[in-house]
Amino acid sequence: MNVTELHKLFLQFPEISTDTRKITPNCIFFALKGSNFNGNKFAEEALKEGASYAIVDEVDYQTSEKTILVDNVLETLQELATFHRNYSKTRVISLTGSNGKTTTKELINLVLSKKYKTIATKGNLNNHIGVPLTLLSIKEDTELAIVEMGANHQGEIAFLSGLAQPDFGYITNFGKAHLEGFGGVEGVIKGKSELFTYLIENDKRIFLNADDAIQKEKLATYIKKFGFSQTDSVYYQIELLSASPFVQIKFEDLVVNTNLIGAYNFHNCCAAILMGKYFNVPPNEIKVALEFYNPDNNRSQLMKKNGHEIILDAYNANPTSMMAALENLSLIESSQKTLFLGDMFELGETANEEHQSIADYAQKLGFKDVYLVGENFFKVNTTFQKFKSFEKLKSYLVDTNLPKSTMLIKGSRGMALERILELL
Ligand code: ATP
Ligand code: MG
Repeated sequence: MNVTELHKLFLQFPEISTDTRKITPNCIFFALKGSNFNGNKFAEEALKEGASYAIVDEVDYQTSEKTILVDNVLETLQELATFHRNYSKTRVISLTGSNGKTTTKELINLVLSKKYKTIATKGNLNNHIGVPLTLLSIKEDTELAIVEMGANHQGEIAFLSGLAQPDFGYITNFGKAHLEGFGGVEGVIKGKSELFTYLIENDKRIFLNADDAIQKEKLATYIKKFGFSQTDSVYYQIELLSASPFVQIKFEDLVVNTNLIGAYNFHNCCAAILMGKYFNVPPNEIKVALEFYNPDNNRSQLMKKNGHEIILDAYNANPTSMMAALENLSLIESSQKTLFLGDMFELGETANEEHQSIADYAQKLGFKDVYLVGENFFKVNTTFQKFKSFEKLKSYLVDTNLPKSTMLIKGSRGMALERILELL
């Protein structure tokens, strides 16, 4: 079956599933393979559960006229997604960057959905499987699709750009994330810039964060290299009024009171305002959309527990977002601050150095009650309390009465530091 025929089938059965635990009636099941599983083995079950067709790539599992045999299920999914993206004529906005992609994507989606029919990446489905699934969620009436693209090595963003073929793109920032796979900070800049390269080569548009020194430098290079004039660019001024603790923004004559913690969220909001302006969403509607958003999933959430005011930022961490969180806490007024900082993963050979820098920075900012958790932080040279594992911290906290404080909890996903909440 070629991609045109498969697409005809997809228009008839527009739900896709890759997981037999989440089969929806009449979906098409794609039997993907992972390092620990072979989806082909579940094809029959998917059909029993109500899937209308199953796409497999092992002949042994082609058991009925409802199983379609292809060379490679993943490649077929990707090919179908790009075909559908082009068939739909929807305009696609892609975003990537080291930190803040999901938050920015949610904000952009809220703003643009005030005026347009939109779809956006669900949750964090931002990889070589998530991007095709997002593209396949484009409906007949979708006007704008907001597609998050994640990467941890070179070439990945170029590949995902090829799949999504964005008309517009935005890079949140170039930070110290996934240093191991990208080959250092220079590698991150190169890797994430693959989105800009795609856009420029295909005569598409870039939304740019001119506060970011690297992006500003890139703009200058692009102007020089491609001969843009200043009039080809539109600048938009947005002001950060306060970030203590919630981000308050001014644009035009409007003050936006967000539910977002952390000055870093200012730039995430700027991206959404900029796109709202570009696509002619009325400013007041932009304000309403931004004020509506509440972060979830342990992403810079503010909560209260037993007299503590807690910034729960346990969703993930890397040196850049860790520094941003420390700076943010230092700006908040409180006589007692307590920090739980967990290991940052995927830093490769710079791990020791980066963990040491974070401990030093916390010291420099004058924090006193800092608890460092994890094997990497355990190796740093510091006067702060260190715990080699979460279990060790847990035994300590069970016997300790912490003073009521403004608290920051942040670490990589694998550290699952949200478990601290139960111990307070
Ligand atoms: P992932 O790589 O998991 O997809 P992401 O890039 O989608 O992450 P978010 O999930 O939006 O990022 O945010 C994760 C955390 O990153 C936040 O809780 C916050 O600590 C930090 N963060 C968010 N935005 C920024 C930013 N612009 N600069 C620095 N750190 C940020
Ligand atoms: Mg994300």
